[in-house]
Parts: sequence; structure tokens; C-alpha cells
Amino acid sequence: MFRSCGFCNAAFDGDGGPSGLGVGRRIAFDEWKGRLWVVCPRCSRWNLTPFDDRLERIEAVARVASQGRILASTEQVALIRWEQYDLVRVGKPLRVELATWRYGERLRNRQRERMKVVVPLTVAAIGLGIAANVAAGGGFGVIVWNIHRAVDGMYLWIVGRRKVTLVEQPICAHCGSLMELRARHVQHARVVPDRHADMAVVLSCPHCKTEGAQLTGSEAVQVLRQGLTYLNIRRGGRRRAEDAAREVDQVGGADQLVRDIARRELTLNSLRPERGLALEMAVDERAEVEELERQWREAEEIADIADGTLGTATEIENELRRLKNAGGDQPSG
Ligand SMILES: [Zn+2]
Ligand SMILES: [Zn+2]
Repeated sequence: MFRSCGFCNAAFDGDGGPSGLGVGRRIAFDEWKGRLWVVCPRCSRWNLTPFDDRLERIEAVARVASQGRILASTEQVALIRWEQYDLVRVGKPLRVELATWRYGERLRNRQRERMKVVVPLTVAAIGLGIAANVAAGGGFGVIVWNIHRAVDGMYLWIVGRRKVTLVEQPICAHCGSLMELRARHVQHARVVPDRHADMAVVLSCPHCKTEGAQLTGSEAVQVLRQGLTYLNIRRGGRRRAEDAAREVDQVGGADQLVRDIARRELTLNSLRPERGLALEMAVDERAEVEELERQWREAEEIADIADGTLGTATEIENELRRLKNAGGDQPSG
């Protein structure tokens, strides 16, 4: 059921308001491509809503958005407050602009989540540190710095230990053990080219440290999403969403970026920080477009059966191509 975040499992807040979804307080919509998302209150990820009557829902949201108050906007994206709802209207934005909205907030949220753990623990530890400091006669500043670093390290450790959720755990071809993957193990994985799949990842076994399994398709995407989240938190710094978006644009789009990284067969770990973030964005983008395509195909089939007439293959092909292009391989003016 569409009740909780597909990325972090947090329950959605709000009641969906005008969307009629029954959940969501922050809702993003894109009339142009017919996309509707509920934004997770915890991790700020955009969750694509199920396909059923999405167009009517988008229409309803767009209607109230036109009566709402614009809190902030860029050329193509606007944040609109209507009653207690935050509505994000997406026009036909350049990737850079959209990235600032989608990923900028996610990065800020990560920093907030990190601080929620790090600050109180540091404060508590400093209390102990002062006592120790008085006893040892050491420098106060040094102790505070070290404690902060230690606590920050602990936070990373917690995130890195998060289990990677897969339908079936892969078995290592090398040592035969069941690979129980945690987010931190994925940094040794490599995106590789595969003739039969859009996305393929070679995993390093946490047990024998040898490359022991290959995942493709949605399983590869799932692993990448969780692994890259950890990696990009670990690398922290002042990387901005715009830089990563520019990185995607420079190579010519999300598909091209994934192909480019796969061709080099580098471990995720050895990607430049901007590239790491760019790959996370590209994987998200592709997963979303693929999901749209899949839903579209399903809807077409159902419609054909209902009509008793088979839609022409070219029509479906054209529509798929339109959706794929709309996925944003090339930013359009
Ligand atoms: Zn979430
Ligand atoms: Zn192994």
C-alpha cells in the first residue's frame, strides 16, 4: 500500500489533501509528464504515486495550487503553500534547477539527521570530557574536537550498518556464503556493462572480500541506492546538488552517465565525490522513468483488453519514446 516511504520506510505524514491519496503533506506534481509524488517527511525523497487515476489527482492538486501562495520559485519549479499542504509544482525544468529542489533538500535533511545524533552525544560526551580533562590537565579544545569526530564517526557507522533490503540475498560464487549486505559493503561494488540489462552491479562479498555476485535490473538499482546514500553521507563536505546535476548534464544525461561509469568499471568508492552524487541522482531518475514505462505498458494492456481493440504498436512505441525522452536525457530549453 502507498502508506510509507519506499526508501526509508517512514510513514507518510498528512492526509493527501486535494490529491485524494489519503497520505502526504508535501506533494509534488508535474502536469507536463503526468507525475505525482509524495515527499517523505523523514528522508525527503520523492515517492512516485501509483498510476491509477493519477491524472485526475494531478489535476485536482494543480487546481488548488493555483489558489495557493507561492513561497518560493525558480523558473520552472515552485513551492506553493495551500492550507497546511506544501505543493511542489514542476514545470519543464532544466536538470540543474530540478536537482536543486529535489537533491538540495535531501542533502540538507541528511545534515539535519546527522546533527540530531551527533550534537546531543557530543554535548553529553563533553560533560564527561571536562571531568577527564581536569584530571589529566589536557587542552579543552582538543578534547572537544576529538569527541565530535568520534561521535560523527559513530553516526557513519550506524548508517553504514543498515541492511540492504533485497528479495533474495545473493550467494557468493567464490566462498559460497550468503552475502548479508550492509550499506557500507556496497562501496566496493562496481557498476558494469551488461548486454541484457540496463543496470548491472558486481558485488564484493563481505565475507571473503572477493567479487562474488552480479545483480541486474531493479535489484542492482536497490543496492546502488542504499550504497550510494551511505557513500555520499560519508564523503560529506560541501558538495552541492547543482554540481552533481551539472556533472550529469556534462556527459549528456542520466543514461550516458551510468554507461560511462560502467565502461570504466571503477568501484563506487573510487568515483569522484560529485560523480558519486551524480550517480545517485541518475539511478533515481532512471528508476523513476522505468517505473513510469512499466506502469504505462500495464495501463495500455488493460485499456486494450477493455476496448477489445489492440492499440497500434506504433502508438505505444511513440508514447514510450516520449516518456523516455521526457525522463530528461537532454535538458530542454
Ligand atoms: Zn523516506
Ligand atoms: Zn565470498
